[in-house]
Amino acid sequence: MLVDAVRIAIIGAGFAGLGMAVRLKQVGIDDFVILERAQDIGGTWRDNSYPGCAVDVQSHLYSFSFAPNPDWSHVYAPQAEIWDYIQTIARRHAVLPHVRFGHEVVGGEWDESAQHWVLRTTKGEVRAQFVVSSMGPLSNPMAPDIPGLDTFAGHTFHSARWDHDHELAGKRVGVIGTGSSAAQFVPEIQPEVGRLTVFQRTAHWTFPRRNRAITATERRLYRRVPLLQKLARARQYLFRELIAFGFLRNGRSRFLEAIATQRLRRQVPDPELRAKLTPDYALGCKRIVVTDDFHPALASPNVDVVTESISEVVPEGVRTADGVVHELDTLILGTGFEVMPVADPLCGRDGVPLAKRWAQRRAAYLGTTVSGYPNYFMLVGPNTATGHTSVLLYAEAQIEYVIQCVQHLRHTGADSLDVRPEVQDAFVADIRERLKGTVWTGGGCASWYLDPDGGSSVLWPGFTWQFRAALRRFDPADYRLHSVATP
Ligand SMILES: Cc1cc2nc3c(=O)[nH]c(=O)nc-3n(C[C@H](O)[C@H](O)[C@H](O)COP(=O)(O)OP(=O)(O)OC[C@H]3O[C@@H](n4cnc5c(N)ncnc54)[C@H](O)[C@@H]3O)c2cc1C
Repeated sequence: MLVDAVRIAIIGAGFAGLGMAVRLKQVGIDDFVILERAQDIGGTWRDNSYPGCAVDVQSHLYSFSFAPNPDWSHVYAPQAEIWDYIQTIARRHAVLPHVRFGHEVVGGEWDESAQHWVLRTTKGEVRAQFVVSSMGPLSNPMAPDIPGLDTFAGHTFHSARWDHDHELAGKRVGVIGTGSSAAQFVPEIQPEVGRLTVFQRTAHWTFPRRNRAITATERRLYRRVPLLQKLARARQYLFRELIAFGFLRNGRSRFLEAIATQRLRRQVPDPELRAKLTPDYALGCKRIVVTDDFHPALASPNVDVVTESISEVVPEGVRTADGVVHELDTLILGTGFEVMPVADPLCGRDGVPLAKRWAQRRAAYLGTTVSGYPNYFMLVGPNTATGHTSVLLYAEAQIEYVIQCVQHLRHTGADSLDVRPEVQDAFVADIRERLKGTVWTGGGCASWYLDPDGGSSVLWPGFTWQFRAALRRFDPADYRLHSVATP
């Protein structure tokens, strides 16, 4: 069944997909749909509603530059407010009528003769000249591969699918994982649970968050003098770019590590627990956890931090390698996400699904286009993150790049563009070379940033302004243009 035939199909109604839609409308392109598998918009900020869920980049920076919000309640806004911001933008720019809910894209082929994509969704077929894939870098929760997980007699859920109907008060609760999500929900649930057992594989470096309410006077000022908000954003941007300095060289930021260690000493008086919470790799190598209350919560009398590795889950709880069974009523998986799910089911010119092409390593030109996949764009694709700043800075640069590509085809009368393989290969080789000198590959840790071969198809090995500069001007020479009339 043909559901739609449109010029542009955007996959995913998260921050990136909706930002793309808003900008398309602003430049006068109205012929698009957004295919969303869920029943609401919002992506990350719809799905993650665990207690304490919030952004860990200042909200003025974690918002679109073309849609500033003078009304953020806090420097780091909570999840509900970010979700509300996304919905407000979508309503204000009238993109909701373009969204097709419950349409999961499960496959797709490039039709060479017609020069368009044929997407298969759970509700039927969609044909589109262009596809913008914004399926999210962290949209599929990852369950750990632990034997016996499904034998647990208590209740289990993932932090990204928080069970708000499940009562935690007084219970024996286990948490697997100590990354950014756990660091946010553990301090929230610790006071109410009976006993909390936190299973830690690796200790994380932490940075102070120092969240505070934005006063009514500040908000009034931002509303009346938008330039002030721009300045606040610029200050936060520059501060975060400074942090990147430390990451881009392969050495330890002894100064920052000393500050973090001092703070840990203040927050955790017990030397044994402190030793467990002290990382043995360079700061920045893994994603830094931005928090003020995680370590104090772990130091509370009703919390145990278990560093012994987990051998299995049994009906009573979790058995660790030392043979101890930690008895639990509830098990919360704070185990993160599949990184940039390689589930992208679209097949390129050679009929090979991107997921298969990328089985070993993801590779895209400017994190956005993939050779052999004409008129196909990714937002927040490979090598578009640094962990120290707002992902939206990358997404916005990509959105503007996509618009340039679409407009270029319109002006030239061509039907499709496909990045030249040699251009993509040179770009990817350059990224790999530049990554060699960074803390992410040389900092002595294993992280979700890294590919099995030690490279990274997640990280951008530079400053965000360098990424934005690389995408500022679309260069037609990077692409092969094709039109049906002149094959
Ligand atoms: C808990 C959490 C906290 C975060 N905090 C920060 C932060 O502080 N700063 C920061 O920069 N980044 C943060 N991130 C990263 C965050 O994912 C990005 O900032 C941003 O939200 C990504 O937007 P997106 O639109 O690319 O993806 P998402 O928000 O994940 O949206 C993707 C959408 O695509 C849909 N979808 C997926 N597959 C299909 C399919 N096959 N068919 C149809 N629809 C599909 C999904 O349902 C979803 O709605 C955080 C992520 C998480 C999980």
